[in-house]
Amino acid sequence: MKKNIKKILLVVLAIAIVGGIFAACAGNKTSDETTTAAPAEKETLVMATNAEFPPYEYHEGDAIVGIDAEIAQAIADKLGMELKIEDVAFDSIIPGVQAKKYDMGMAGMTVTEERLKSVNFSDSYAKGVQAVIVKEDSDIKSIDDIKGKKIGVQTSTTGDIYASDDYGEENVTKFDNGAIAVQALQSDKVDCVIIDNEPAKSYVAANKGLKVLETAYVEEDYAICFNKENKELQDKVNGALKELIADGTVQKIIDKYIKA
Ligand code: GLN
Repeated sequence: MKKNIKKILLVVLAIAIVGGIFAACAGNKTSDETTTAAPAEKETLVMATNAEFPPYEYHEGDAIVGIDAEIAQAIADKLGMELKIEDVAFDSIIPGVQAKKYDMGMAGMTVTEERLKSVNFSDSYAKGVQAVIVKEDSDIKSIDDIKGKKIGVQTSTTGDIYASDDYGEENVTKFDNGAIAVQALQSDKVDCVIIDNEPAKSYVAANKGLKVLETAYVEEDYAICFNKENKELQDKVNGALKELIADGTVQKIIDKYIKA
């Protein structure tokens, strides 16, 4: 009799444990289902960039990282949106924004009068300077020595525009991005590369035998561009950007990538 009671108790206990496990699993399942079903889908914010422009945007494994990528993420977080970054050629960013393929363009992009005819810009979030990369043993010692030399640039960038205006289109070779332009300098296909100062420093740090000339070329403001018809998004993003500048987030991100 005693033995039987023990047996029954054991069986009851076993059933309780197994039942408990099942209940727990089932419980988890239903809670999973409710969490995936409940919240409304986040609206996506599609940003076009050219991720060959360190420290503003570049590839790190599968991810696109850098100052612009992080500021854009902070903006998306503030707006409750899901950031999606598209890596495209620099000269297809503005046409893509105009065609509403992308919601915005952010690529260390300089505000210019010419571009303002095609797109709108946010407030500026950073400054850039056009700089000149040469080989360490180059006879180009300053900006004054560039005349008549072969200049490498990234197609459609301000470096391209200024160099073509100041030194003649025939002296300017256009490349798809900064990395390819720097390769051309290393293999003596061009005598110098005109590109923004921070990418110039990054490229020099990553490649032997190059240096950045002390004399800066042109100073400029970086901003985010939008389709002229999408004033609503421009205002929202600009509002978030203003807050992120005011609370020091933007400067913190810049300082993370650009050491003083
Ligand atoms: N600041 C330059 C421009 O706007 C270069 C930008 C870039 O190459 N990503 O033209």
